[in-house]
Amino acid sequence: MKVNLHKPTVHRDDKPGDILGRLVHVRPYYSVPTGRGSSQPARSPFTQRARVTEEFGEEMVIVHFASEAYHAPWAPRAAYFPRELHTLTCECPACEGEGIASLRGA
Ligand SMILES: [Zn+2]
Repeated sequence: MKVNLHKPTVHRDDKPGDILGRLVHVRPYYSVPTGRGSSQPARSPFTQRARVTEEFGEEMVIVHFASEAYHAPWAPRAAYFPRELHTLTCECPACEGEGIASLRGA
């Protein structure tokens, strides 16, 4: 089996205003219940397609996940830094392969 070693290609150098309206790939965050009244953060190993809809503060943007993620455990919209957003042509494991397990990074 061929292992996918591509690093994520992200919108690292783009300002929030530069990517408004763009389609991107994002690894969504969500919460997993660990007890009654407690939860812990989790992040999808795989990217989902989303559209950048607005700026959020000075450095972040709001993304709106595409409809195929309707049954997913994450919220339909969320705030991200541009450096967390993979480009549509990204070939990293989260976009094209077995996934990325890390909670940090892109
Ligand atoms: Zn990617």
